[in-house]
Amino acid sequence: MKKVLLPFVVIALCLLTVSSCCEKRAKYVFYFIGDGMGFSHVALAEAYLATEKGVIGSEPLNFSKFPELGIATTYSASNYITCSSAAGTALSTGHKTNNGMLGVLPDSTNLTSISYKIHDAGYKVGIMTTVTIDHATPGAFYAHSPSRSDYYSIGKELSATGFEFFGGGGFATPRGKGQAEQSLYEITENAGYTVAYGLDEFNAKKENASKIVLFQEKGKEDNILPYALGRKKNDLTLSQVVSSAIEVLENEKGFFIMAEGGKIDWAAHSNDLANTIFETIDMADAVEIAYQFYLKHKDETLIIVTADHETGGVSLGMTKGYVYNLKVVDSIKVNATETTVENYMNSAAVMDTVSQKAQIGWTTKSHTGGGVPVYAIGAGSELFRGRMDNTDIPQKICKAMGIEY
Ligand SMILES: [Zn+2]
Repeated sequence: MKKVLLPFVVIALCLLTVSSCCEKRAKYVFYFIGDGMGFSHVALAEAYLATEKGVIGSEPLNFSKFPELGIATTYSASNYITCSSAAGTALSTGHKTNNGMLGVLPDSTNLTSISYKIHDAGYKVGIMTTVTIDHATPGAFYAHSPSRSDYYSIGKELSATGFEFFGGGGFATPRGKGQAEQSLYEITENAGYTVAYGLDEFNAKKENASKIVLFQEKGKEDNILPYALGRKKNDLTLSQVVSSAIEVLENEKGFFIMAEGGKIDWAAHSNDLANTIFETIDMADAVEIAYQFYLKHKDETLIIVTADHETGGVSLGMTKGYVYNLKVVDSIKVNATETTVENYMNSAAVMDTVSQKAQIGWTTKSHTGGGVPVYAIGAGSELFRGRMDNTDIPQKICKAMGIEY
């Protein structure tokens, strides 16, 4: 009797092992990249939230409460301090390249982004950003160019990917630098993509679309999503783009979403304290959409929030006396009439005054070379614990999804 039962027991144990392993496999992956978002940017946003509450402290952003925390080194193949295209290439392909290069090795050989590997494995893929869709970070997930500023050829590659969703800003140079090329919007539509401008169009067109691109409404700010601080009615937000992507991509097999908060970097390049804070909070709002999805699919969802590098060398405090005060930032937002917001947005001198009054220091208008945070929750999130290199992250994502890297 024992001999008869033994094979069944072995089979049952094997099935149990397989099912418990598969339960933890990441089927839905959200990969958020805050461009330029170092530890200090997160700390600033959290100190600002405490200020809003009227307390000395740190009110955590949703993602900084994730159970796993790591730190990723960011140097590129050519420089201790990376640019966004070399970092994007590392984060999408797992290979270092030279500053200025995108999706290729230093010798210009094409690399393969994990978005292609994941798509080939049968998952739906969505790439989205607050800046132009051919910018360094989103571009690194689908394009290849020895020069990150070759926006036309980068944008042209989008239509050939077959990825099911793109969203955010439009193309930087839709007709090329000389304005003489065929429009990239046309090329994208000719490749079978439905192009929707604004949420209303998206909602009207999504049912009949197999592949869809969601851009900012026509006539709005040119091909980027506006800063959260200057946002006007019906302006598209990263949260809306992420939630639209989920609508299109959700399916039994699973999906991979890369969403970039691209203007954290732009604000920090300008040493613009208010927008650095509000863009970081705005990306956390987009992460919240993913987090709500995670709560419904806990065993099968992985969310990673990281950055490509730090921008601005921002410091919480800049003088003797152990003080800084973000109330001055609060006043721009809380008392904002359009004029004061506009005054702030359009004047480097006003921005500098706000940082000075808040006693927040900046060491550069460029990038710095330190490590960046990696926050993770969900299936496979334990892989993102501790020290890693930025090239390890895409490999870890594939591992969490059970896809050969
Ligand atoms: Zn930058």
